[in-house]
Amino acid sequence: MRALVISDKVEPILYSPAINERIGPVDLILSCGDLPFYYIEFIVSMVNRPAYYVFGNHGREFEYQSGKGDQWNRQTAPLGAVNLHLCTEKVNNLLLAGLEGSIRYNDSSEAQYTDNEMWMNILRLAPALAVNRLRYGRWLDVLVAHSPPFGIHDKPDRAHTGFRSFLPFMRFFKPRYLLHGHIHLYRNNEVVQTKYHDTEVINVYPFRVLDL
Ligand SMILES: [Zn+2]
Repeated sequence: MRALVISDKVEPILYSPAINERIGPVDLILSCGDLPFYYIEFIVSMVNRPAYYVFGNHGREFEYQSGKGDQWNRQTAPLGAVNLHLCTEKVNNLLLAGLEGSIRYNDSSEAQYTDNEMWMNILRLAPALAVNRLRYGRWLDVLVAHSPPFGIHDKPDRAHTGFRSFLPFMRFFKPRYLLHGHIHLYRNNEVVQTKYHDTEVINVYPFRVLDL
């Protein structure tokens, strides 16, 4: 399964009528968060493949679109894409699951969680993973997240510290991939892929085409 995975930044290479020539054929679109709805919707309509997303710590606020006359319509999610947070989905033979948000670093109502709250999210997701395990012999293949795990691609400042709870999550549920954004890259020598036990942890900022 070839996936276009996007995160955090509107990338002019993709936000272009030439997107399909630039990325080649893909089977799936995944968004790791912090992206405006119009960008996800543009990519979904141009690439025309199933699309799944989680929210980042930014961009959960609604957006407004012009409606009839001088009215504005409030929009709370991108159209044509499925919110994966606390859910699993099976696309062909690939088992996806999602955990949104970043570590809590201020009082904002956006998708921020303490590590304990992320543990609760994991517990809420676990029954669906257990159903996968019974049906398909594995919990999941790909965790779509916004934040990295603690100590892998994360940063020392509070807003960019990864989730400690993702480490036992990977050891126990053994996803083949944990895809994340949130950590913007400013140099081209930063580590973006790290193997942790059975999981490839990949920072997809601002986009990657991956064979999953
Ligand atoms: Zn973020």
